Parts: sequence; C-alpha cells; structure tokens
Amino acid sequence: MRDGIAPTIESIAVIGAGTMGHGIAQVAAGAGYRVLLRDVDRESLARGIQSIERNLAKGIELGKLTDAERDDTLQHIRGTTQLEDAAEADLIVEAVPEKLELKQDILRQLEALSVQPFIFASNTSSLSITDIALASKRPELVVGMHFFNPVHLMRLLEIVAGKATSAATIETARAVGRRLRKEPIVVRDVPGFVSSRLGVALGLEAMRMFEQGVASAPDIDQAMELGYNHPMGPLKLTDLVGLDVRLNIAEYLHRELGSETFRPPKVLRRLVDEGKLGKKAGEGFYLWTNGKAEAREARPS
Ligand code: NAD
Repeated sequence: MRDGIAPTIESIAVIGAGTMGHGIAQVAAGAGYRVLLRDVDRESLARGIQSIERNLAKGIELGKLTDAERDDTLQHIRGTTQLEDAAEADLIVEAVPEKLELKQDILRQLEALSVQPFIFASNTSSLSITDIALASKRPELVVGMHFFNPVHLMRLLEIVAGKATSAATIETARAVGRRLRKEPIVVRDVPGFVSSRLGVALGLEAMRMFEQGVASAPDIDQAMELGYNHPMGPLKLTDLVGLDVRLNIAEYLHRELGSETFRPPKVLRRLVDEGKLGKKAGEGFYLWTNGKAEAREARPS
C-alpha cells in the first residue's frame, strides 16, 4: 500500500464487539466486505453476534431486508478472540473502550503481527487521532471513523484527519463509508470534532435556559423539534445519552477549548451528584417510566 494511492479494501477487522463494534461489523458485512469481529471476551463476542442477529431479524420484520440478505450478511462475519486473525485485514476499525493507552496498545500489537500495512481507523468519540497515531510506525494510515449509535440506522460518518493522516487514507475511509451507505464528512482532529462540539454546545445552552426558568424542558425541546426539525430536543437527548456522559464531555471540551460555552451548568452537576443520570436512572431532565418521558412538575431549584 503506497501513500498517494487510495488502496482497495476487501476485508475489514473490527476490534471490540460492544455497542459500536457489532454495529460496524453488521453494516460492513451487509455491504459485502469480509468481516472479522474480534473481542477479548468470549461472552461479549457472543452478545455482539446475537445483537447483529436481532437487528437483522428486526430488519426482516420491517420488510427492509430479505432472508437471503440476512444469511449473506451473517456469512460474511467471522468472530474471533485472537488478535492475530485481525492483522490480515486491509482495514482495521477499533471500537474498544475510550482509553488512549488501550487503543495505542492494540495498534502497536497489530503492526507487530501483520505482514502487510493496513489502515487503522479509530471509532473514538473524543480522543485525538494524532495522539493515537503516535503509537504507529505508519501514522499516515491512521484515521478516525466516528460512527453513531445505533450504527445500522445512523447515517453520519465523521472521518477525522489526524496531523499525519494522508489524503489517500482519507479517500479510502470515505469510499468505505459510502459503501456502508453512510454520509461521510471530513473534519480536522480537534476536541469534540464537529458532531460532539456542536451537539454538546446546544445541549448545554438548553440546560442554562432551563436553569434560568426561560421555559420548561418540553417547551425547550419542542422549540428545536418543531422549529428546526430536530428529531429530538436537546434535553431529552441528554437524558438518553446519560447526564454523566454529557458532563464528562463538557468538562473535557471546557478544559481543551478553554471556551465558556462548554462550562458545565450547575443544574447538570447537581443532577449527576444526585444520581439523576437520565433515562437509565429513571430521572434526569424528565421522569422516565416504562421507557416514556414525562415532564417534571417544576424546574429543579
Ligand atoms: P462497549 O463497552 O460497548 O464495547 C467495548 C468492547 O470492547 C467490549 O465488548 C469489550 O469486551 C471489548 N474490548 C475491551 N478491550 C478489548 C481488546 N483489547 N480487544 C478487543 N476487544 C476489547 O463500548 P462502545 O460504546 O461500543 O464504545 C467503543 C468506542 O466507540 C469508544 O471509543 C467510544 O468512545 C466510541 N463511541 C461510542 C458511541 C456510543 O454511543 N456508545 C458512539 C460513538 C463512538
């Protein structure tokens, strides 16, 4: 694989079979790539494959997929717990937990195991691609491919160009993204990339308005849903993502970008301290019963 020539990808290895990894493996197999799905943990791997089967069954139920397409997708996926198997792929996408050292360690091990160069794509939602690539002997082949959850339904693919990422690597990532039926955008490696920086800024401003009593949570959300055609308002979305997750990202962006836009509002800190983490905790900016959101009677003081 020479720099300057966008290589053709035939096989994809996905490292980590969790929430994101199984979804990436599914869409890659559905697009006809040979896919290897690797997890360190046998049970996580089995759960990942079961989730793919469940998603495909749902697709058939909804009339979006035929039985033959499901069989074909499943035939394109092989599960493994051996890292060596992954080192043969043309493109390796990592979706392991959000820890820089772990991602770097996997990259180092894969380069030591492989006989041929491969593109290494990270699905990180916040880490710097340039930093991940410091572990590589071929940083021009390291790129961010940021998919969204659930991968088989969300259309955006945010391609992140690190300082050393080559134009050919970006082109290849873009071509793969299109074949996976995603809409790729290319962004520079800055904290929060484009999607998290904008999404979090909107969410934090909505929280500040809620805190100041400008409007109720449902009214703030409706402003965006009905006025801007957002499928979901920023406060309800925060409840779904988890208030603790949002707080972590806000703190990180505030630190890295030094902008007041990302200073976490008091209400966010307080709700997190009280364990009101959103849907998963039954309470956040809304009260959640049986998966449905109800407005809280009053704004938290
Ligand atoms: P997850 O915890 O659901 O899955 C991680 C998987 O990696 C687990 O199955 C775990 O067993 C496995 N794993 C751990 N160490 C491993 C190793 N050394 N080799 C192989 N597998 C290993 O995590 P996730 O939510 O899928 O997130 C993965 C990455 O995707 C993170 O970088 C995260 O920031 C990013 N991301 C997550 C979302 C989301 O909504 N969950 C969205 C976009 C990006």
